[in-house]
Amino acid sequence: MPPSAPAPRIAVPPDALVILCGPSGSGKSFFARRNARSTAIVSSDRCRALVGDDATDQRFSGRAFDLFHRIIAHRLAVGRLTVADSTALSPDARRELRRLARRAGRPTVLILFDLPLTLCRRRNAARRRRVPEAVLRAQHERFRAQRDRLPAEGYAVVARLTARDGGLARLRIVRSAPPSEGAPPA
Ligand code: GDP
Ligand code: MG
Repeated sequence: MPPSAPAPRIAVPPDALVILCGPSGSGKSFFARRNARSTAIVSSDRCRALVGDDATDQRFSGRAFDLFHRIIAHRLAVGRLTVADSTALSPDARRELRRLARRAGRPTVLILFDLPLTLCRRRNAARRRRVPEAVLRAQHERFRAQRDRLPAEGYAVVARLTARDGGLARLRIVRSAPPSEGAPPA
């Protein structure tokens, strides 16, 4: 993409659940921060920290994901745009997020962070909290193995970001429906 090309725009309904999906270091949290207000971002790492003071301590994952899902469910119930910031690499994790959106009557948007392993590795190495190399590689392989099947799981919108446009892409809120008064549709 030449430097002058417009940044990709991902059309997102104002009450959507935006599900980020990709390995560590692929830029999910970076993207979320650039595109959504802090209260709209529900991060599994943050939930782990809220539960046990450590965003990386896997012993707290069960409780952290319970919190993650509860916050998401509450936001969706009142029709607020919600960005689920987790790797979402397991089919069960994505199924649960789709279920929460369906229960609240909200659309889902899946954003795939399809970056090369070398770039994820470089970004991972440059940050304070590093994911072990073997974990990163396994996550990347897992992502690549299922990437092409994911749109068929059923999302209102699916966007795939690459190394070229990952940092440039922007969410564009499309007000296709009047703003919610708070209650989910019957
Ligand atoms: P995550 O594990 O997928 O949430 O990855 P992060 O969003 O935490 O990104 C990992 C590191 O790469 C962070 O230090 C980010 O600041 C940096 N990063 C992520 N995306 C970009 C990007 O598009 N451009 C640049 N320059 N840095 C990025
Ligand atoms: Mg992150």
